[in-house]
Amino acid sequence: MSAQPHTVLRWVVRRTRLPLLSLRCVACRSESATAGEGRFRVNANGKLLDVWLLVRCLSCDRTTNLTVHERAPVRSFDPGELDGYYANDPELVASRLLDPLLAHRNRFTLDWTGAWRLDTPRAWPEDAWPVQVEVVFADPVPVRPERLIAQGLGLSRNEVLRRIKCGIPLRRPTSTGFTFTVLS
Ligand SMILES: [Zn+2]
Repeated sequence: MSAQPHTVLRWVVRRTRLPLLSLRCVACRSESATAGEGRFRVNANGKLLDVWLLVRCLSCDRTTNLTVHERAPVRSFDPGELDGYYANDPELVASRLLDPLLAHRNRFTLDWTGAWRLDTPRAWPEDAWPVQVEVVFADPVPVRPERLIAQGLGLSRNEVLRRIKCGIPLRRPTSTGFTFTVLS
């Protein structure tokens, strides 16, 4: 009898839009902001550049500049990166917004509610237990494995705890790929 799973499936977690920011507004004290479509502001001062990412309070529309680069030498920038800031390149917006360093420096957290989805293969193998599922993160969305698995398999959380073997803690949010085994 083989202990190897019969079937390996792949699930992919990906973002569907930019997450909101939990960021206290200095004007109205609301705690929800959006990067909208994503805009940078670049200010040149001699050979130094400041780059900000602009976000807007969802309650009062006040704009806040999040520091991306502060007084950084122009020559320290990759030309493509610099073009991206001037052109508000959406990929660059996402990569900067999702960079934990930006969040730490500007004291906000990301609110991923409704901003991601789980892609699973349509067909579930019949009579092919156990099944191993490999979860891949296309974007760093923090999810609780327990919740993700319950959603992906249509199981209750109790069933997940009973039927899943997983090498990482099920209750701690992660955005690092992992695998789990579903027992029949
Ligand atoms: Zn506000």
